[in-house]
Amino acid sequence: MAGADRLERFIEIFLGEARSDFLIIFAIQTNATLITDELCELIRHRNIQVSVSVDGNQKHNDLHRLDHRGKSSHVRTAAGIAKLKETVGEQLSGLLAVMDIKTDPLEVFDALAQYGTTSVEFLLPHHNWDKPPPRPGDDEHAYGKWYFEIFKAWIGGRNSHLDIRFFTHILSQLVGNGGIYEAMTLAPITLLTVNTAGGYEAVDCIKSTGSGAHHLGLHVKETSVSSLLTHPAIEVRQKGEGQLAPKCQTCRFKTSCAGGYYPHRYSVANSFNNPSVYCSDLYWLLSEITTHVKALNRHA
Ligand code: SF4
Repeated sequence: MAGADRLERFIEIFLGEARSDFLIIFAIQTNATLITDELCELIRHRNIQVSVSVDGNQKHNDLHRLDHRGKSSHVRTAAGIAKLKETVGEQLSGLLAVMDIKTDPLEVFDALAQYGTTSVEFLLPHHNWDKPPPRPGDDEHAYGKWYFEIFKAWIGGRNSHLDIRFFTHILSQLVGNGGIYEAMTLAPITLLTVNTAGGYEAVDCIKSTGSGAHHLGLHVKETSVSSLLTHPAIEVRQKGEGQLAPKCQTCRFKTSCAGGYYPHRYSVANSFNNPSVYCSDLYWLLSEITTHVKALNRHA
């Protein structure tokens, strides 16, 4: 919404202020409805990485991504993705979809593959113990099953050109390698959010808890980044296993699940000292993936 000119000025300010030995990577997350020729030119010229939020085809996307007038935005999103693909090539780094267990997972998977990008990320919707996810039929593995349908198809070769970061991340950690992003890992977090007013925030998705925990109450003008490492909200996520709830500490998947995504652990009663609200799904999914991969290896 800022438009190409304003973004260009923003980039100039960053580059002008930063030390010459800093590596600065610019990236945009967008629904692609406002992609213009000018914006594509800026993306190419400034080497900006772009990821598009889209949940599948129009039917899937309209479940949660109507515009502010309640109208479908999908035609504009699809046109935006096509324009990006044509003009910025590999700088379109992928698609980000939030799963909905009411949808058919393979239909969603195929619909996303049709956009022709090289990667897709599937996210769990943001819920926590005080705002639990909907579970039609009280199926405690419903979210795990949705993921597993896609995993089995993908590992079996369907849309295998796609990198699915969620599965790559899980597989990497299951075989004892590191994670590749900040959710579901015991590795110290290496990110910090600065909002547009200059305030520091912990992971911005913590907003979904409604607890205000994302606000650190500190500002770039008064506080250096290095001094933030001792802030309790940042420090806790540098503690490896020490950040996990008792149940997670003894879980067989503690290194590959790591209590799930931090915001999904929240409750008013215990703050973030809980397993994920998706614990039953994650435990089931990791068990199924482990069994499935072992069986594939036996038959290889
Ligand atoms: S599966 Fe459940 S108990 Fe195990 S680490 Fe994940 S959230 Fe914790």
